[in-house]
Amino acid sequence: MEGTERLRLAVQKTGRLSEKSLEIIAGCGISFGSDSRLLKEHARNFPLEFLFVRDDDIPAYVRDGVADIGIVGRNELDERCPDDLEIVRDLGFAQCRLSVAVPRDFPYGGLQWLAGKRIATSYPNILGRILEERGVTAKICYLSGSVEIAPAAGIADAICDLVSSGTTLLMNGLREVEPLYSSTAVMVSRQGFMSEASPRQVILERLLLRIDSVIRAKS
Ligand code: ATP
Ligand code: ZN
Repeated sequence: MEGTERLRLAVQKTGRLSEKSLEIIAGCGISFGSDSRLLKEHARNFPLEFLFVRDDDIPAYVRDGVADIGIVGRNELDERCPDDLEIVRDLGFAQCRLSVAVPRDFPYGGLQWLAGKRIATSYPNILGRILEERGVTAKICYLSGSVEIAPAAGIADAICDLVSSGTTLLMNGLREVEPLYSSTAVMVSRQGFMSEASPRQVILERLLLRIDSVIRAKS
């Protein structure tokens, strides 16, 4: 049965997750070509098929069954479809945090300072949930990218964006004042896939055994 089945893995085509995602798979002893122009590719010595796509689309591909599993930042998962997907492994790389940042000279006195203010972000759902939990009502302005220019452009008082080193914020005259949420790259499947006992689920079990040794060897 398994000979004809392949587990379909969605990975980011180009970006911060691409190289390390493929490094982990290669670390599992799985070999594949490295032609980044391809959308799809088969591994040579393991029943695995890659789909190379934008990271934003990975949660929906897995939810809709276009891919069986995907490697994506926890932030994309929590923003897009947290209830439809299941984290099967935390892969630990691509560490970053979602933080509030304000113009360098602004006095900031804690989250309550944001009440009634405009906050620009690409993560309106995560930010909305956190502000609600903490009892702060602010105006969330959605921007799909270049969020850090919003205060200088006069369209927001503060931003909430992904930060790793903080250099981008500094370069834009902003100061990180409130880390709200942490993220790493995770491997996801759709809810229930792990308990289906299907041929592809069996392949995933085999892949996870290998991934666990790769993660153990790195730590
Ligand atoms: P795509 O073209 O695939 O949509 P992108 O530009 O949206 O790519 P990247 O910037 O490559 O995405 O980021 C992918 C993921 O890397 C983020 O969702 C996040 O989980 C993680 N990441 C780690 N550090 C950072 C950072 N400093 N800024 C943004 N994302 C980061
Ligand atoms: Zn993206």
